[in-house]
Amino acid sequence: MSNKSLIDTLAARLGAAHVLTAPDDVAPHLAETRGLYRGEALAVVRPRDTAEVAFAVRECARARVPVVAQGGNTGLVGGGVPAGGVVISLSRLDRVRTLDVLDATITVEAGCVLARVQQAADEAGLLFPLSLASEGSCRIGGNLATNAGGTAVLAYGNARELTLGLEVVLADGRVWNGLRALRKDNAGYDLKHLFVGSEGTLGIITAAVLKLFPKPASRATAFLGLASARAALAAFGHLRGRVGPRLTAFEYLPRFALEIVLRHLPGAVRPLAGDHAAYALVELSSPAPDAGAELEGLLAGLIEAEGAEDAVLAQSDAQGRALWRLRESLSEVQGHEGGSIKHDVAVPVSRVAEFLERATAACEAAMQGVRVCAFGHFGDGNIHFNLTQPPGMDRMAFLAAWPRFNRIVHDIVHELDGSIAAEHGVGLIKRDELLRYKDPVALDLMHRLKAALDPHGLLNPGKVLPDRVLPGDLL
Ligand code: FAD
Repeated sequence: MSNKSLIDTLAARLGAAHVLTAPDDVAPHLAETRGLYRGEALAVVRPRDTAEVAFAVRECARARVPVVAQGGNTGLVGGGVPAGGVVISLSRLDRVRTLDVLDATITVEAGCVLARVQQAADEAGLLFPLSLASEGSCRIGGNLATNAGGTAVLAYGNARELTLGLEVVLADGRVWNGLRALRKDNAGYDLKHLFVGSEGTLGIITAAVLKLFPKPASRATAFLGLASARAALAAFGHLRGRVGPRLTAFEYLPRFALEIVLRHLPGAVRPLAGDHAAYALVELSSPAPDAGAELEGLLAGLIEAEGAEDAVLAQSDAQGRALWRLRESLSEVQGHEGGSIKHDVAVPVSRVAEFLERATAACEAAMQGVRVCAFGHFGDGNIHFNLTQPPGMDRMAFLAAWPRFNRIVHDIVHELDGSIAAEHGVGLIKRDELLRYKDPVALDLMHRLKAALDPHGLLNPGKVLPDRVLPGDLL
Protein backbone atom coordinates (compact mmCIF):
# COMPACT_ATOMS: atom_id res chain seq x y z
CA MET A 1 0.00 0.00 0.00
CA SER A 2 1.40 3.42 -0.90
CA ASN A 3 1.61 6.17 1.70
CA LYS A 4 -1.07 8.06 -0.24
CA SER A 5 -3.54 5.18 -0.17
CA LEU A 6 -2.81 4.65 3.56
CA ILE A 7 -3.67 8.30 4.24
CA ASP A 8 -6.82 8.00 2.10
CA THR A 9 -7.88 4.84 3.96
CA LEU A 10 -7.36 6.54 7.34
CA ALA A 11 -9.22 9.66 6.22
CA ALA A 12 -12.15 7.58 4.94
CA ARG A 13 -12.64 6.03 8.40
CA LEU A 14 -11.56 8.83 10.80
CA GLY A 15 -12.76 11.76 8.67
CA ALA A 16 -10.43 14.03 6.71
CA ALA A 17 -10.53 16.65 9.50
CA HIS A 18 -8.80 14.17 11.80
CA VAL A 19 -6.00 13.10 9.46
CA LEU A 20 -3.62 16.05 9.42
CA THR A 21 -1.02 16.33 6.69
CA ALA A 22 -0.56 20.09 6.18
CA PRO A 23 2.88 21.12 7.45
CA ASP A 24 1.47 23.76 9.85
CA ASP A 25 -0.92 21.21 11.39
CA VAL A 26 1.72 18.53 11.71
CA ALA A 27 4.51 20.79 13.01
CA PRO A 28 3.42 20.95 16.71
CA HIS A 29 3.68 17.15 16.83
CA LEU A 30 7.23 16.93 15.51
CA ALA A 31 9.09 18.27 18.54
CA GLU A 32 8.79 18.56 22.31
CA THR A 33 8.81 21.89 24.11
CA ARG A 34 12.40 21.40 25.20
CA GLY A 35 13.33 21.33 21.51
CA LEU A 36 16.17 18.81 21.78
CA TYR A 37 14.84 16.68 18.92
CA ARG A 38 12.84 17.36 15.78
CA GLY A 39 11.25 14.56 13.78
CA GLU A 40 9.07 14.10 10.73
CA ALA A 41 5.74 12.41 10.06
CA LEU A 42 3.54 11.44 7.13
CA ALA A 43 0.43 12.47 9.07
CA VAL A 44 -1.06 13.06 12.49
CA VAL A 45 -4.28 11.14 13.10
CA ARG A 46 -6.80 11.91 15.83
CA PRO A 47 -9.04 8.89 16.44
CA ARG A 48 -12.06 9.44 18.64
CA ASP A 49 -12.33 6.00 20.27
CA THR A 50 -10.53 2.70 20.81
CA ALA A 51 -11.97 1.15 17.64
CA GLU A 52 -10.53 3.99 15.55
CA VAL A 53 -7.12 3.68 17.25
CA ALA A 54 -7.18 -0.06 16.47
CA PHE A 55 -8.16 0.67 12.86
CA ALA A 56 -5.32 3.17 12.42
CA VAL A 57 -2.73 0.82 13.96
CA ARG A 58 -3.95 -2.14 11.87
CA GLU A 59 -3.82 -0.19 8.61
CA CYS A 60 -0.36 1.18 9.42
CA ALA A 61 0.81 -2.36 10.26
CA ARG A 62 -0.52 -3.62 6.93
CA ALA A 63 1.42 -0.87 5.16
CA ARG A 64 4.49 -1.44 7.42
CA VAL A 65 4.37 2.21 8.46
CA PRO A 66 5.55 3.03 12.02
CA VAL A 67 3.26 4.71 14.55
CA VAL A 68 4.05 6.96 17.51
CA ALA A 69 1.47 7.63 20.23
CA GLN A 70 1.20 11.15 21.60
CA GLY A 71 -0.71 12.45 24.59
CA GLY A 72 0.00 16.00 25.75
CA ASN A 73 3.48 15.98 24.19
CA THR A 74 4.98 17.27 27.46
CA GLY A 75 7.61 14.52 27.58
CA LEU A 76 11.20 15.59 28.14
CA VAL A 77 13.25 12.74 26.67
CA GLY A 78 12.32 12.71 22.96
CA GLY A 79 10.01 9.69 23.40
CA GLY A 80 7.08 11.09 21.43
CA VAL A 81 9.08 12.61 18.57
CA PRO A 82 8.22 10.74 15.35
CA ALA A 83 10.88 9.47 12.96
CA GLY A 84 8.61 9.27 9.89
CA GLY A 85 5.36 7.30 9.96
CA VAL A 86 2.08 8.29 11.57
CA VAL A 87 1.53 10.11 14.87
CA ILE A 88 -1.52 8.81 16.73
CA SER A 89 -2.76 11.61 18.95
CA LEU A 90 -4.95 10.35 21.81
CA SER A 91 -6.33 13.82 22.51
CA ARG A 92 -9.92 13.01 21.43
CA LEU A 93 -10.16 9.95 23.69
CA ASP A 94 -10.85 12.18 26.65
CA ARG A 95 -13.86 10.69 28.41
CA VAL A 96 -14.19 9.62 32.02
CA ARG A 97 -15.96 6.30 31.44
CA THR A 98 -16.94 5.42 35.01
CA LEU A 99 -16.15 6.26 38.61
CA ASP A 100 -16.97 3.79 41.39
CA VAL A 101 -16.87 5.16 44.91
CA LEU A 102 -17.06 1.77 46.63
CA ASP A 103 -14.33 0.23 44.47
CA ALA A 104 -12.47 3.57 44.76
CA THR A 105 -11.62 3.45 41.05
CA ILE A 106 -11.96 5.65 38.02
CA THR A 107 -11.94 4.39 34.42
CA VAL A 108 -10.63 6.99 32.02
CA GLU A 109 -9.61 7.20 28.40
CA ALA A 110 -5.97 7.75 27.57
CA GLY A 111 -6.47 11.30 26.31
CA CYS A 112 -7.90 12.66 29.58
CA VAL A 113 -5.75 15.53 30.79
CA LEU A 114 -4.30 14.63 34.21
CA ALA A 115 -5.91 17.66 35.90
CA ARG A 116 -9.29 16.49 34.59
CA VAL A 117 -8.81 13.06 36.22
CA GLN A 118 -7.89 14.79 39.50
CA GLN A 119 -10.96 17.00 39.20
CA ALA A 120 -13.34 14.09 38.51
CA ALA A 121 -12.03 12.29 41.60
CA ASP A 122 -12.34 15.46 43.67
CA GLU A 123 -15.95 15.99 42.59
CA ALA A 124 -16.71 12.48 43.88
CA GLY A 125 -15.10 13.31 47.24
CA LEU A 126 -11.98 11.23 46.48
CA LEU A 127 -8.35 11.85 45.57
CA PHE A 128 -6.35 10.88 42.51
CA PRO A 129 -2.89 11.67 43.84
CA LEU A 130 -0.68 11.73 40.73
CA SER A 131 0.55 15.32 40.55
CA LEU A 132 3.11 16.90 38.18
CA ALA A 133 3.89 20.48 37.19
CA SER A 134 2.65 19.60 33.67
CA GLU A 135 -0.72 18.30 34.93
CA GLY A 136 -2.71 20.94 33.03
CA SER A 137 -1.55 19.54 29.68
CA CYS A 138 -0.12 16.01 30.05
CA ARG A 139 -2.61 13.19 29.43
CA ILE A 140 -3.15 10.07 31.47
CA GLY A 141 -2.04 7.74 28.65
CA GLY A 142 1.28 9.60 28.51
CA ASN A 143 1.54 9.47 32.31
CA LEU A 144 1.11 5.70 32.24
CA ALA A 145 3.35 5.18 29.21
CA THR A 146 6.16 7.03 31.03
CA ASN A 147 5.26 5.69 34.50
CA ALA A 148 5.19 9.30 35.67
CA GLY A 149 6.26 10.21 39.19
CA GLY A 150 5.79 13.73 40.52
CA THR A 151 5.41 15.09 44.00
CA ALA A 152 3.15 12.50 45.68
CA VAL A 153 5.14 9.31 45.00
CA LEU A 154 6.38 9.28 48.58
CA ALA A 155 2.90 8.46 49.90
CA TYR A 156 0.99 7.02 46.95
CA GLY A 157 3.55 5.59 44.52
CA ASN A 158 4.12 6.40 40.86
CA ALA A 159 1.71 5.89 37.94
CA ARG A 160 2.34 2.13 37.91
CA GLU A 161 1.25 1.75 41.50
CA LEU A 162 -1.95 3.67 40.76
CA THR A 163 -2.96 1.39 37.88
CA LEU A 164 -5.37 -1.52 38.28
CA GLY A 165 -6.26 -2.22 34.66
CA LEU A 166 -5.54 -1.17 31.08
CA GLU A 167 -7.02 -1.31 27.61
CA VAL A 168 -4.29 -1.49 24.97
CA VAL A 169 -4.17 -1.58 21.18
CA LEU A 170 -1.48 -4.06 20.17
CA ALA A 171 0.93 -3.76 17.25
CA ASP A 172 -1.33 -5.77 14.92
CA GLY A 173 -4.40 -3.71 15.78
CA ARG A 174 -6.00 -6.18 18.21
CA VAL A 175 -7.41 -4.73 21.43
CA TRP A 176 -6.45 -6.22 24.79
CA ASN A 177 -9.24 -5.41 27.24
CA GLY A 178 -7.63 -5.58 30.66
CA LEU A 179 -9.93 -2.96 32.22
CA ARG A 180 -10.41 -4.69 35.55
CA ALA A 181 -10.79 -3.06 38.95
CA LEU A 182 -9.33 -5.94 40.94
CA ARG A 183 -6.94 -5.43 43.83
CA LYS A 184 -5.99 -9.10 43.60
CA ASP A 185 -5.57 -11.01 40.34
CA ASN A 186 -2.89 -13.67 40.21
CA ALA A 187 -4.38 -15.52 37.24
CA GLY A 188 -1.21 -15.51 35.17
CA TYR A 189 1.28 -12.81 34.19
CA ASP A 190 0.35 -9.26 35.16
CA LEU A 191 0.36 -7.88 31.61
CA LYS A 192 -0.54 -4.29 32.44
CA HIS A 193 2.90 -3.76 33.94
CA LEU A 194 4.50 -4.49 30.57
CA PHE A 195 2.78 -1.49 29.03
CA VAL A 196 3.17 0.96 31.92
CA GLY A 197 6.52 2.69 31.42
CA SER A 198 7.07 1.22 27.94
CA GLU A 199 6.88 4.67 26.28
CA GLY A 200 4.66 3.49 23.45
CA THR A 201 7.07 0.77 22.26
CA LEU A 202 4.87 -2.24 23.15
CA GLY A 203 1.29 -1.04 22.63
CA ILE A 204 -0.96 2.02 22.64
CA ILE A 205 -2.85 2.54 25.87
CA THR A 206 -6.43 3.63 25.16
CA ALA A 207 -7.99 3.49 28.64
CA ALA A 208 -7.13 2.67 32.26
CA VAL A 209 -8.70 1.78 35.59
CA LEU A 210 -6.97 3.86 38.26
CA LYS A 211 -6.98 3.76 42.06
CA LEU A 212 -8.59 6.54 44.08
CA PHE A 213 -7.95 7.40 47.72
CA PRO A 214 -9.76 9.13 50.57
CA LYS A 215 -9.16 12.87 50.55
CA PRO A 216 -7.14 14.01 53.57
CA ALA A 217 -9.21 16.14 55.96
CA SER A 218 -6.32 18.59 56.29
CA ARG A 219 -2.91 19.33 54.87
CA ALA A 220 -0.06 21.44 56.18
CA THR A 221 3.02 22.73 54.40
CA ALA A 222 6.32 23.91 55.86
CA PHE A 223 9.68 25.12 54.58
CA LEU A 224 12.86 24.05 56.39
CA GLY A 225 16.29 25.71 56.43
CA LEU A 226 19.08 23.13 56.76
CA ALA A 227 22.86 23.05 57.01
CA SER A 228 23.42 20.39 54.32
CA ALA A 229 21.96 17.53 52.30
CA ARG A 230 22.91 15.22 55.18
CA ALA A 231 20.81 17.37 57.51
CA ALA A 232 17.95 17.04 55.01
CA LEU A 233 18.28 13.26 55.14
CA ALA A 234 18.20 13.33 58.95
CA ALA A 235 15.10 15.57 58.87
CA PHE A 236 13.41 13.24 56.39
CA GLY A 237 14.16 10.18 58.55
CA HIS A 238 12.83 11.98 61.64
CA LEU A 239 9.53 12.97 59.99
CA ARG A 240 8.98 9.72 58.12
CA GLY A 241 9.65 7.73 61.27
CA ARG A 242 6.91 9.63 63.10
CA VAL A 243 4.14 9.98 60.52
CA GLY A 244 4.92 7.32 57.88
CA PRO A 245 2.97 7.76 54.63
CA ARG A 246 1.15 10.81 55.99
CA LEU A 247 4.35 12.64 55.03
CA THR A 248 3.07 13.30 51.52
CA ALA A 249 6.00 15.37 50.23
CA PHE A 250 9.62 16.01 51.08
CA GLU A 251 11.13 18.12 48.30
CA TYR A 252 14.73 19.32 48.39
CA LEU A 253 16.26 22.58 47.13
CA PRO A 254 19.86 23.73 47.52
CA ARG A 255 20.69 27.40 48.21
CA PHE A 256 21.39 28.12 44.52
CA ALA A 257 17.94 26.84 43.52
CA LEU A 258 16.13 29.10 45.99
CA GLU A 259 18.27 32.06 44.92
CA ILE A 260 17.34 31.72 41.26
CA VAL A 261 13.64 31.33 42.02
CA LEU A 262 13.73 34.48 44.14
CA ARG A 263 15.62 36.27 41.36
CA HIS A 264 13.34 35.32 38.46
CA LEU A 265 9.88 34.35 39.74
CA PRO A 266 7.60 37.39 39.84
CA GLY A 267 6.17 37.90 43.33
CA ALA A 268 8.34 35.23 44.98
CA VAL A 269 9.05 35.96 48.65
CA ARG A 270 11.99 34.58 50.68
CA PRO A 271 10.33 32.03 52.98
CA LEU A 272 12.88 32.17 55.82
CA ALA A 273 14.73 35.21 57.14
CA GLY A 274 18.17 33.58 57.19
CA ASP A 275 20.34 32.02 54.53
CA HIS A 276 20.83 28.23 54.55
CA ALA A 277 22.85 25.75 52.51
CA ALA A 278 19.80 23.58 51.84
CA TYR A 279 16.02 23.71 52.10
CA ALA A 280 13.16 21.24 52.18
CA LEU A 281 9.49 21.68 51.38
CA VAL A 282 7.48 19.38 53.61
CA GLU A 283 3.80 18.43 53.37
CA LEU A 284 1.84 16.52 55.99
CA SER A 285 -1.63 15.10 55.23
CA SER A 286 -4.03 13.98 57.92
CA PRO A 287 -7.44 12.29 58.19
CA ALA A 288 -8.01 14.65 61.15
CA PRO A 289 -8.57 18.41 60.77
CA ASP A 290 -5.39 19.47 62.59
CA ALA A 291 -2.43 18.72 60.28
CA GLY A 292 -1.11 22.26 60.95
CA ALA A 293 -0.86 21.80 64.71
CA GLU A 294 0.69 18.36 64.26
CA LEU A 295 3.30 19.62 61.80
CA GLU A 296 4.12 22.54 64.08
CA GLY A 297 4.94 20.08 66.88
CA LEU A 298 7.03 17.98 64.52
CA LEU A 299 9.01 21.03 63.37
CA ALA A 300 9.88 21.92 66.96
CA GLY A 301 11.16 18.37 67.46
CA LEU A 302 13.17 18.59 64.23
CA ILE A 303 14.97 21.74 65.35
CA GLU A 304 15.71 20.26 68.74
CA ALA A 305 16.61 16.67 67.83
CA GLU A 306 17.98 16.90 64.28
CA GLY A 307 19.47 20.38 64.25
CA ALA A 308 17.24 21.82 61.52
CA GLU A 309 18.32 25.49 61.41
CA ASP A 310 14.94 27.09 60.89
CA ALA A 311 11.40 26.28 59.76
CA VAL A 312 8.25 28.13 58.78
CA LEU A 313 4.75 26.67 58.75
CA ALA A 314 2.30 27.99 56.15
CA GLN A 315 -0.54 29.73 58.00
CA SER A 316 -3.07 29.50 55.17
CA ASP A 317 -3.73 27.62 51.93
CA ALA A 318 -2.47 30.65 50.03
CA GLN A 319 0.83 30.59 51.93
CA GLY A 320 1.10 26.85 51.31
CA ARG A 321 0.56 27.36 47.57
CA ALA A 322 3.19 30.12 47.55
CA LEU A 323 5.72 27.71 49.07
CA TRP A 324 4.86 25.05 46.47
CA ARG A 325 5.23 27.65 43.72
CA LEU A 326 8.85 28.18 44.73
CA ARG A 327 9.52 24.48 44.17
CA GLU A 328 7.41 24.04 41.05
CA SER A 329 8.91 27.00 39.23
CA LEU A 330 12.43 25.69 39.43
CA SER A 331 12.66 24.04 36.01
CA GLU A 332 11.29 27.16 34.38
CA VAL A 333 13.50 29.73 36.14
CA GLN A 334 16.64 27.74 35.47
CA GLY A 335 16.37 28.81 31.84
CA HIS A 336 16.90 32.46 32.84
CA GLU A 337 20.40 31.62 34.05
CA GLY A 338 21.58 30.25 30.67
CA GLY A 339 22.07 26.71 29.40
CA SER A 340 21.09 23.72 31.54
CA ILE A 341 22.35 20.16 31.47
CA LYS A 342 19.78 17.92 33.17
CA HIS A 343 19.96 14.51 34.80
CA ASP A 344 16.80 12.85 36.12
CA VAL A 345 18.25 10.16 38.40
CA ALA A 346 17.35 8.07 41.44
CA VAL A 347 19.39 6.45 44.19
CA PRO A 348 18.27 4.65 47.35
CA VAL A 349 16.95 7.30 49.75
CA SER A 350 19.64 6.43 52.29
CA ARG A 351 22.28 7.46 49.72
CA VAL A 352 20.79 10.69 48.39
CA ALA A 353 23.05 12.92 50.50
CA GLU A 354 26.14 10.95 49.52
CA PHE A 355 25.11 11.19 45.86
CA LEU A 356 24.60 14.95 46.09
CA GLU A 357 27.97 15.48 47.76
CA ARG A 358 29.92 13.30 45.36
CA ALA A 359 28.24 14.42 42.16
CA THR A 360 28.46 18.11 43.13
CA ALA A 361 32.18 17.85 43.92
CA ALA A 362 32.90 15.90 40.71
CA CYS A 363 31.02 18.35 38.45
CA GLU A 364 32.57 21.42 40.10
CA ALA A 365 36.00 19.87 39.62
CA ALA A 366 35.24 19.10 35.96
CA MET A 367 34.31 22.68 35.00
CA GLN A 368 35.25 25.82 36.82
CA GLY A 369 32.21 27.94 37.68
CA VAL A 370 29.55 25.36 36.83
CA ARG A 371 26.53 25.88 39.10
CA VAL A 372 24.85 22.78 40.48
CA CYS A 373 21.06 23.09 40.73
CA ALA A 374 20.15 19.68 42.18
CA PHE A 375 16.61 19.58 43.46
CA GLY A 376 13.67 17.25 43.60
CA HIS A 377 11.77 14.44 45.18
CA PHE A 378 14.33 13.74 47.93
CA GLY A 379 11.89 11.53 49.85
CA ASP A 380 11.69 8.95 47.06
CA GLY A 381 15.36 9.20 46.08
CA ASN A 382 14.72 11.08 42.79
CA ILE A 383 16.95 14.08 42.19
CA HIS A 384 16.92 16.37 39.16
CA PHE A 385 20.66 16.85 39.13
CA ASN A 386 20.75 19.87 36.86
CA LEU A 387 23.77 21.97 35.97
CA THR A 388 23.61 25.64 35.08
CA GLN A 389 26.27 27.17 32.88
CA PRO A 390 29.06 29.24 34.43
CA PRO A 391 28.24 32.97 34.23
CA GLY A 392 29.61 34.47 31.03
CA MET A 393 30.32 31.16 29.33
CA ASP A 394 29.07 30.58 25.79
CA ARG A 395 25.85 28.55 25.99
CA MET A 396 26.72 26.16 23.16
CA ALA A 397 30.21 25.56 24.56
CA PHE A 398 28.57 24.62 27.86
CA LEU A 399 26.01 22.30 26.23
CA ALA A 400 28.83 20.57 24.34
CA ALA A 401 29.98 19.25 27.71
CA TRP A 402 26.70 17.31 28.16
CA PRO A 403 28.20 13.85 27.38
CA ARG A 404 31.12 14.51 29.73
CA PHE A 405 28.78 15.45 32.60
CA ASN A 406 26.51 12.50 31.79
CA ARG A 407 29.43 10.18 32.28
CA ILE A 408 30.43 11.79 35.60
CA VAL A 409 26.92 11.89 37.09
CA HIS A 410 25.64 8.58 35.74
CA ASP A 411 28.76 6.68 36.81
CA ILE A 412 28.21 7.88 40.39
CA VAL A 413 24.51 6.97 40.22
CA HIS A 414 25.47 3.51 38.98
CA GLU A 415 28.05 3.03 41.74
CA LEU A 416 25.35 3.89 44.28
CA ASP A 417 23.03 1.27 42.76
CA GLY A 418 20.71 3.90 41.34
CA SER A 419 18.88 4.52 38.06
CA ILE A 420 19.90 6.98 35.32
CA ALA A 421 16.22 7.36 34.29
CA ALA A 422 14.09 8.02 37.35
CA GLU A 423 10.76 9.43 36.20
CA HIS A 424 11.00 11.04 32.76
CA GLY A 425 11.83 7.83 30.92
CA VAL A 426 14.47 6.83 28.39
CA GLY A 427 13.07 8.00 25.05
CA LEU A 428 15.92 8.99 22.79
CA ILE A 429 18.00 10.93 25.24
CA LYS A 430 19.07 8.00 27.43
CA ARG A 431 18.62 5.11 25.01
CA ASP A 432 22.28 4.50 24.29
CA GLU A 433 23.25 5.10 27.92
CA LEU A 434 21.38 1.89 28.76
CA LEU A 435 24.16 -0.07 27.06
CA ARG A 436 26.56 1.11 29.74
CA TYR A 437 24.30 1.02 32.79
CA LYS A 438 21.54 -1.56 32.27
CA ASP A 439 22.11 -5.19 33.11
CA PRO A 440 22.76 -7.00 29.78
CA VAL A 441 20.37 -9.80 30.69
CA ALA A 442 17.64 -7.23 31.35
CA LEU A 443 18.40 -5.59 27.98
CA ASP A 444 18.17 -8.95 26.26
CA LEU A 445 14.78 -9.61 27.88
CA MET A 446 13.57 -6.18 26.78
CA HIS A 447 14.54 -6.95 23.18
CA ARG A 448 12.78 -10.34 23.34
CA LEU A 449 9.60 -8.76 24.69
CA LYS A 450 9.71 -6.12 21.98
CA ALA A 451 10.15 -8.78 19.29
CA ALA A 452 7.26 -10.83 20.71
CA LEU A 453 4.81 -7.94 20.97
CA ASP A 454 5.91 -5.88 17.98
CA PRO A 455 7.61 -8.28 15.53
CA HIS A 456 7.86 -5.71 12.73
CA GLY A 457 9.24 -2.98 14.99
CA LEU A 458 6.50 -0.49 14.10
CA LEU A 459 5.59 0.88 17.55
CA ASN A 460 7.66 3.98 18.33
CA PRO A 461 10.79 2.60 16.66
CA GLY A 462 14.19 3.85 17.78
CA LYS A 463 13.05 4.69 21.32
CA VAL A 464 14.02 3.14 24.66
CA LEU A 465 15.87 0.10 23.26
CA PRO A 466 19.48 0.60 22.25
CA ASP A 467 20.64 -1.30 19.18
CA ARG A 468 20.78 -4.96 19.97
CA VAL A 469 23.98 -6.34 21.44
CA LEU A 470 24.31 -10.05 20.72
CA PRO A 471 25.15 -12.24 23.72
CA GLY A 472 28.59 -12.97 22.22
CA ASP A 473 29.41 -9.25 22.24
CA LEU A 474 28.96 -9.14 25.99
CA LEU A 475 31.70 -11.63 26.76
P1 FAD B 1 3.71 12.55 25.71
O1 FAD B 1 4.80 13.55 25.89
O2 FAD B 1 2.72 12.81 24.65
O3 FAD B 1 4.38 11.10 25.46
C1 FAD B 1 5.38 10.62 26.31
C2 FAD B 1 5.75 9.20 25.89
O4 FAD B 1 4.65 8.32 26.09
C3 FAD B 1 6.10 9.06 24.42
O5 FAD B 1 7.07 8.04 24.28
C4 FAD B 1 4.79 8.64 23.76
O6 FAD B 1 4.99 7.91 22.57
C5 FAD B 1 4.21 7.77 24.85
N1 FAD B 1 2.73 7.79 24.89
C6 FAD B 1 1.93 8.88 25.05
N2 FAD B 1 0.65 8.49 25.12
C7 FAD B 1 0.64 7.14 24.99
C8 FAD B 1 -0.38 6.15 24.97
N3 FAD B 1 -1.66 6.49 25.12
N4 FAD B 1 -0.02 4.86 24.83
C9 FAD B 1 1.28 4.50 24.69
N5 FAD B 1 2.29 5.40 24.68
C10 FAD B 1 1.97 6.69 24.83
N6 FAD B 1 7.31 13.77 34.56
C11 FAD B 1 7.31 13.12 35.75
O7 FAD B 1 7.30 11.88 35.77
N7 FAD B 1 7.33 13.80 36.93
C12 FAD B 1 7.31 15.15 36.99
O8 FAD B 1 7.32 15.72 38.08
C13 FAD B 1 7.28 15.86 35.75
N8 FAD B 1 7.24 17.20 35.75
C14 FAD B 1 7.19 17.86 34.56
C15 FAD B 1 7.10 19.24 34.58
C16 FAD B 1 7.04 19.95 33.39
C17 FAD B 1 6.93 21.45 33.43
C18 FAD B 1 7.06 19.25 32.14
C19 FAD B 1 6.97 19.98 30.84
C20 FAD B 1 7.16 17.87 32.12
C21 FAD B 1 7.22 17.17 33.33
N9 FAD B 1 7.29 15.77 33.34
C22 FAD B 1 7.29 15.10 34.53
C23 FAD B 1 7.37 15.03 32.07
C24 FAD B 1 6.00 14.76 31.39
O9 FAD B 1 5.03 15.69 31.74
C25 FAD B 1 5.53 13.36 31.76
O10 FAD B 1 6.43 12.45 31.19
C26 FAD B 1 4.11 13.02 31.31
O11 FAD B 1 3.76 11.83 31.99
C27 FAD B 1 3.97 12.81 29.81
O12 FAD B 1 2.58 12.84 29.46
P2 FAD B 1 2.14 13.33 28.00
O13 FAD B 1 0.69 13.05 27.83
O14 FAD B 1 2.58 14.70 27.74
O15 FAD B 1 2.97 12.28 27.11
